[in-house]
Amino acid sequence: MPFSVAIIGAGPSGFYTAEALRRSERDYRIDLLEGLPTPFGLIRSGVAPDHQSTKRVARSYERTAADKAVRYYGNVQVGRDIGLAELRRLYDAVVIAVGAPLDRDLNLPGGDKTGVYGSAAFVGWYNGHPTHRDLEPDLNVTAVAVIGNGNVALDIARVLVKTPAEMADTDLPEHAAQVLHAAPVRDVHLIGRRGPLEAKFTNVELREMGQLSDALPLVDGGQLPMAPNPAASERDQRLQAKNLETLRSFTALDDRGQGKRVHFQFFLRPLEVLGDGHVEGLRLERTRLEEGRVVGTGETIDLPCGAVIAAIGTRAQPLEGLPFDERSGIVVNRRGRVAKGLYVVGWARRGPTGVIGTNKPDADEIARHIEADLTEAKATPGHHTGRAALEDLLAERGVTWVSFDDWKAIEAAEIEAAAPGMPRKKLISIAEMLAVLDGPSSPGE
Ligand SMILES: Cc1cc2nc3c(=O)[nH]c(=O)nc-3n(C[C@H](O)[C@H](O)[C@H](O)COP(=O)(O)OP(=O)(O)OC[C@H]3O[C@@H](n4cnc5c(N)ncnc54)[C@H](O)[C@@H]3O)c2cc1C
Repeated sequence: MPFSVAIIGAGPSGFYTAEALRRSERDYRIDLLEGLPTPFGLIRSGVAPDHQSTKRVARSYERTAADKAVRYYGNVQVGRDIGLAELRRLYDAVVIAVGAPLDRDLNLPGGDKTGVYGSAAFVGWYNGHPTHRDLEPDLNVTAVAVIGNGNVALDIARVLVKTPAEMADTDLPEHAAQVLHAAPVRDVHLIGRRGPLEAKFTNVELREMGQLSDALPLVDGGQLPMAPNPAASERDQRLQAKNLETLRSFTALDDRGQGKRVHFQFFLRPLEVLGDGHVEGLRLERTRLEEGRVVGTGETIDLPCGAVIAAIGTRAQPLEGLPFDERSGIVVNRRGRVAKGLYVVGWARRGPTGVIGTNKPDADEIARHIEADLTEAKATPGHHTGRAALEDLLAERGVTWVSFDDWKAIEAAEIEAAAPGMPRKKLISIAEMLAVLDGPSSPGE
């Protein structure tokens, strides 16, 4: 008899946990509960539409899902369709893998003006996430300020300035393409409180900014130090050296009359969103670093812009019964352990840091914890009813859950509907997705 494990969330961390359990010596039955009909979390709704090769990592998750030990329950939102406490009663172990989907508050005077968006909402909008598809950002503006110096900020800036031709072979949904491509945006300002050495850009993404057909990246060469920070680790110094080289190369790029500019603005911290109801600008203060700390210089600048997008990190969503650290926005845990039989993995554990692969060692550790804890508790396999009881409960509550085969049918419909050259035409509402399916799923064992 197998042990029963429920994983809440079918993003990278959920799938890596399922895979780690599947590869372990023990016999597990693993159920992945996902709030949306579609799996893969931010690979579908975060990774930029023009980064299709990155999204291909999901193919390895398909192999995990194909294992008989693993079952996918899409369209099952924990907290709405079933409670965490219920799952803990039904399963030997429950793993929280719900990511960090909520925007952090910008916490600035004027931060509630029309035209201020959080990156989770904005990225979700242009990626067709059902929760954010109706955001309707007002991009009828000539300048946008993107606050943040990480890859999410770079993604947003790139998507704002790429031409329709550059986005033609992506899965950018039509509602977003119409707004983005009609927008008169000429200037995108990337605002960082710290300097180029502290920016969290990965080099491949940074280099892309120099290869855009109608946008020129602009950097103040005077802000670029000659060398990496000698106090940083060797690995960080290598990354800093590469990024410095790339930023320096931007200062030598020719102005070919590109219609758009991406301004890398370092050492500026936002003080206030300006405007009368709608964003008209951003008040910034020049900063300097003192022993690694950001210190304001008192010098302020008013940057005219019609929209502000805050790419300043996101937080997890608390679930009833989960100890939650409001300040850091993560589930309280000790190396992934939350309580007896309860674990957390991925962005819900660490916050929004690291790339897709960073979630793998995290998941491996959780699988080791589960194994060790079951051994220590001398737990008996088969004691918890798991899957059978879950399906009974969902049926009782009339929850239409989506199997992995159902998801493949949704995916096939998206691929079939795509224009030539596009990978898929995303369905962006849950009703549309469910309409593809003939009826409620009822796979056998
Ligand atoms: C804009 C953006 C771009 C990125 N681009 C890249 C990139 O190019 N390359 C790269 O390597 N990394 C990239 N990343 C990072 C990568 O996406 C993350 O490391 C990874 O997705 C985190 O995995 P996760 O499983 O913890 O969370 P998520 O991917 O967020 O998955 C969580 C899943 O849980 C589900 N869920 C949430 N609550 C519930 C609930 N109550 N019940 C059931 N299900 C629930 C969600 O629907 C979601 O499917 C990017 C991140 C962002 C935000």
